[in-house]
Parts: sequence; C-alpha cells; structure tokens
Amino acid sequence: MIKVMSKGHRSVPVICCDVCGSWIDDADAGAVVFRKMTGDDDTSEVLHAHKGRCHVVAEERFGGQVKTGWHELRQHLQFLTFNTGVPPAALQKMDGDREL
Ligand SMILES: [Zn+2]
Repeated sequence: MIKVMSKGHRSVPVICCDVCGSWIDDADAGAVVFRKMTGDDDTSEVLHAHKGRCHVVAEERFGGQVKTGWHELRQHLQFLTFNTGVPPAALQKMDGDREL
C-alpha cells in the first residue's frame, strides 16, 4: 500500500507491505503480487510485499502461487513511472535529495 509518512515538516510517500504493514525501504527487497489475468484489458489489484514470507502470504491472498504473478518492486516502479509520463529528467533531479 502507498502511504505518506511524516518527516519533519514534510509528508513523504512510501510503499508499505500489504502483509506486515512496515515500510519497504529497499526496492530490491520488495515484490508486487497480482492475480493472473486472462486476456487483454483484464486488470488486477496489486499487493506490495517484502520478498520471502510476506510475498508468500500475498500470493495466498489471491489464491496461491498458481493463480498469481509478480514483479520485482524496482521493475514495477520503473513501469509505473514510464506509464504515468514522468520524464526521466524529473527523477534525475530528485537523485541528489536522499532525505525525501
Ligand atoms: Zn512485509
């Protein structure tokens, strides 16, 4: 799930695990689980989860591994960024501001 976290006087967007609720602060430690789709234009809600036990529980919520697919969180975020039209230059501008 996406939340905002209070940091100083700022509200910072973060992705939290839909299973344990804690912040996924490393994209390489996260997975995005979805229901297997049957054809073009089919959609599925997604669950964000830590890899490992949380990932397994997320798959179980959609009926188990046979009925689900998943993406690496890092890849998922790259696709989301591309599919929402965020220009790469906007991300490069943020790169120096690690205290978001
Ligand atoms: Zn978790």
